[in-house]
Amino acid sequence: MIPEPYQSIINKRYEQFLQDTTKINDENLKNYFDICFEDIFSHYGLYACWICVNCMKNNILSKGWGEKPDVCPKCGESTTFSVATFQAWATKAGDMFGWAFYKLIQEYSDLEITSMPRHNRTHDFEITHKIAIEAKGSAEYIKNPDGSKYYLDIPGMKRSDTEKKAFANGEKYKSQHPNNKFFIVTNAVPEGLTVEGRAADGLFDMTNKQDLDKFINECTKNKGETLSSFF
Ligand SMILES: [Zn+2]
Repeated sequence: MIPEPYQSIINKRYEQFLQDTTKINDENLKNYFDICFEDIFSHYGLYACWICVNCMKNNILSKGWGEKPDVCPKCGESTTFSVATFQAWATKAGDMFGWAFYKLIQEYSDLEITSMPRHNRTHDFEITHKIAIEAKGSAEYIKNPDGSKYYLDIPGMKRSDTEKKAFANGEKYKSQHPNNKFFIVTNAVPEGLTVEGRAADGLFDMTNKQDLDKFINECTKNKGETLSSFF
């Protein structure tokens, strides 16, 4: 169900950090998501690095991991450029967060979670037809092959464009299904952000054990009648 290479990474890291459900806490939840991000970036070679194009023009190699220097240490020109782009990190990390979340719910709860087809634009997962879930997660940093960490500006729901998109999707979904629930899950919630007065019924941080349990309770409460409850 989970596509490769996500599946292998998630299985390995789930077993490493969360296998013992009695010991799940904020720290190993955060580690689970963070190391999954590290693994997917390293799988695709999506590191943070820079090169100097002036040096390249002269057949000299001037490059490095992490933040690009303002001027090239070899030629002194300000012709240094970052190589990997934010867009690539955002896409891979977004997918990784979604699948890592999916695995966590499958393993840790009794809920039946379904992933939506890619063309579904309002949400990523469903728990019965009563609950839509929008997964909005992203990495805090890129770990480079030299071990250095390159911190990304604003992770998760802390990005204002991510926040706007999530609530816009909520609005669309709720206008079509006013009696259903629309939940947003993430790995970084900005201080003071609530769903009050917004088109979502809940916002949950999956790196917070209390939030995770609250999310599972809310889903259990709102998933509606299932076939088994008739017997
Ligand atoms: Zn140079």
